[in-house]
This record gives sequence, C-alpha cells and structure tokens, in this order.
Amino acid sequence: MIAANIEKITQQLPKQVKLIAVSKTQPIELLKEVYQAGIKAFGENKVQEMVAKQPQMPIDTEWHLIGHLQTNKVKYIAPFVHLIHSVDSIKLLTTINKEAHKNNRIINVLLQVYIATEETKFGLNETELVTLLHNAKNSNLNHIAICGLMGMASNTDNSAQIENEFSGLQRLFHKIREDITSFPILLPDKFTELSMGMSSDFLMAIKHGSTMVRIGSSIFGARSYSLK
Ligand SMILES: *Cc1c(COP(=O)(O)O)cnc(C)c1O
Repeated sequence: MIAANIEKITQQLPKQVKLIAVSKTQPIELLKEVYQAGIKAFGENKVQEMVAKQPQMPIDTEWHLIGHLQTNKVKYIAPFVHLIHSVDSIKLLTTINKEAHKNNRIINVLLQVYIATEETKFGLNETELVTLLHNAKNSNLNHIAICGLMGMASNTDNSAQIENEFSGLQRLFHKIREDITSFPILLPDKFTELSMGMSSDFLMAIKHGSTMVRIGSSIFGARSYSLK
C-alpha cells in the first residue's frame, strides 16, 4: 500500500521536486517500507522521536526536522540532521552553528516564514526575516548553510487562500534571491530551496515553485496519535 501511495505521488512530482516522507508518529517498520520504496528523506517534528528512530534506519537516511525546535535540543540532532526546516530566530541559528561546529560539520537550514492566517503556526514575517538576515551577517555563522525558505499554508478548504499564501512565499523567495548580494549570509548557489506543500496542498505548492514537498498522510495513511 505504501509503495503504491508513493508511486502515485511521485508520478505527480516534477523531477526537480524532492519528496520528504513525513513519518512523525509512524512506527519504524513503516519507515523501512518507505525507504525500500526508494524514498530516503524523512521528516520528523519532534527531536526525541527523530533521535530514537535514526539509529534504526540505514546510514544514508536523510533526516529533516520540520517542527518547532528548541535551542536546548539542537545538540541531540546536530551529529546527523540533514536539513532543519523550521529556523525562526537568530538565537536558534547561532545555537545550530555552535553545535554544528562541535560536530565538525555544516548544517543546512531553512528559515520558516509565517504565511498562514492561523495564530498557531510558527515562523517569521517578511520584516522579521529581513532583519534576521541582516543581523546574521556579523555573527560568523560558518557552520550553517541557509538553503532557502519553508512555509505552511492555512489549514482550510479555501484553495484560493492557500494559493495566495504559497504565491506570497514564492514572491518573497524570489525577491530575496534577486537582491541576494545585500545579504552576505546568503550564497546564490545555496539559497535555492522552497519547502512548501503537504498531502492536501502539494500540487498547488508545486505550481508556485516548491522544491520540496513534505507529505505524511498520503503516504502512510492517517496518523494515529494515540500510538505515541
Ligand atoms: C505533519 C506535517 C506535514 C505533513 O502533513 P500531511 O498532511 O500528513 O501530509 C508537513 N509539514 C509539517 C511541518 C508537518 O508538521
């Protein structure tokens, strides 16, 4: 079933769009099935859960942290995390840099932008994003690579609204890329990713330039939170 779900999704993805299997709350056996079907990138929203699963999966599994990250937990994922999608403060950026340095590696991050109308979603607005980028340039962040932006659309049936939110993020992404020389922390060949789109809205996200989609329930089926 999982292999068929993945097949159906990948058929709809342009070649350049990466599929991240969002495996939060899912048991390791199902992650292994996904891996066997050819998907090696997994998204988790909790540090503890990612740390527990990581040693049980093949060494070339890519771990993507997609949920809110507290600074005191960065050290647990710093040795192996592939991409942190949810960076929303200079303090978090500085901590990731410090832990990456300790592990003698460069950690890839995305800056999370708030595009939804709901109060519950984390992220930066445009002004905060630009301020963060300007402030970051003097911080000697040699052990992080800012690879792009991440956003989550509103949880709504109103597709015009979702599309509007995605196109807003796409516009912001291109605005920064076009003016990239005013942000010395950003490198044009690194700042290339736009992480947006989930099970219900990934086709719209792709239409608006998404380069990575984070898909859970359409691969695994509905999440059962009681299994935690
Ligand atoms: C859970 C989650 C997803 C995947 O959601 P589905 O609707 O199951 O595809 C994507 N992104 C983030 C940040 C998530 O927390």
